[in-house]
Amino acid sequence: MSFEEFGLPKEILRALEEEGYSEPTPVQRKAIPIVLAGFDLLAGSQTGTGKTAGFVLPMLCRLNVHFRGPRPVRALILTPTRELAAQVGESVATYGRHLPLKSTVIFGGVNINPQIRTLRSGVDILVATPGRLLDHVSQKTVDLSKVQILVLDEADRMLDMGFIHDIRKILALLPKDRQNLLFSATFSDEIKRLADGFLKSPKKIEVTPSNSTAESVSQTIHPVDSKRKKELLSFLIFSKKWKQILIFTRTKHGANKLAQHLVQDGIAAAAIHGNKSQSARTKALADFKEGRIQALVATDIAARGLDIEQLPHVVNYELPNVPEDYVHRIGRTGRAGCVGEAVSLVCIDEQLFLRDIEKLLKRSLTKEIVPGFEPDPRIKPEPIFQKRQNFRRR
Ligand code: AMP
Repeated sequence: MSFEEFGLPKEILRALEEEGYSEPTPVQRKAIPIVLAGFDLLAGSQTGTGKTAGFVLPMLCRLNVHFRGPRPVRALILTPTRELAAQVGESVATYGRHLPLKSTVIFGGVNINPQIRTLRSGVDILVATPGRLLDHVSQKTVDLSKVQILVLDEADRMLDMGFIHDIRKILALLPKDRQNLLFSATFSDEIKRLADGFLKSPKKIEVTPSNSTAESVSQTIHPVDSKRKKELLSFLIFSKKWKQILIFTRTKHGANKLAQHLVQDGIAAAAIHGNKSQSARTKALADFKEGRIQALVATDIAARGLDIEQLPHVVNYELPNVPEDYVHRIGRTGRAGCVGEAVSLVCIDEQLFLRDIEKLLKRSLTKEIVPGFEPDPRIKPEPIFQKRQNFRRR
């Protein structure tokens, strides 16, 4: 099927052609007609499936009617992280570049004044993180009373990051009569409650079945002693000639230490996490995308929403203590039909995390001991002192 069949305006088709998109992805095939028809939508879909265009294209089409008077914000897209907000904002600008619609992105950690000026000049589509949006609300520098379309992107992650109260405050500021779209990679009871609370008879679509991992990702567990993980990682990178690797650690400190170790081993690496400034994170991501950095070490929160096309390798240097994060992490590879490889280095202390992940996936993962890195059977497991979901439910 082609994009023409949706009846999108020629300005959008032109932008898609310039982007080299020849046909819609599965999530786009399902979502675009629903959104165009004005229905609410509950979509199970991960980053990398083309979900952004799945809501942005029909949104642009619905907003593309002449609006009399000053431009109010008519579409609001909420995202959990700055990076994702920036990426979604770029998509809106790209797909809408031949349309007379204005969009902007607002997030925290940067000066608020330029944002105020842009909002004052009139914006049709606003992409925002919840905290900074509420700052604008309290300063009365944004008016949300004319919003016709609301998108919650990566809603599961927004809840994980403790944004539920902010989301509820924002929902209360919007007109009752509006279209709501909710995208989420996983569906916990909390997401279902949120969705039930504000979606009106939503159409439901699911692209990758929730809580399952993309078929195109090969997943391997390498059992190894915790003190030999660094050595094994460098060995794998060299012996397998991996060129672009996203590596996950559980903590910010762990990310820093590992990046330093890789650099000592002659691997160009950088860490990306919440303690780094926005400009440092943006630079590390750009260096990684352009190949100046071979290995990017990230925590779950920092990696969320990173748009890196066709990432071939994801390494779980440490397993996440929240099993859904495993699904998110490996969703970074095997994108858009490419086969990806997800490798997890698992020590004896992480057996419980592994068991929870396998329970969520409803299958056991292949275990492969790398010769020379056999775990020492004399080592006894020790508990990992990180309270489960310690910062998730605030
Ligand atoms: P997303 O899941 O929205 O983050 O999109 C993942 C990547 O797929 C982005 O880099 C998009 O530019 C790209 N993409 C989205 N739709 C298409 C399409 N129909 N054809 C080719 N690439 C696409």
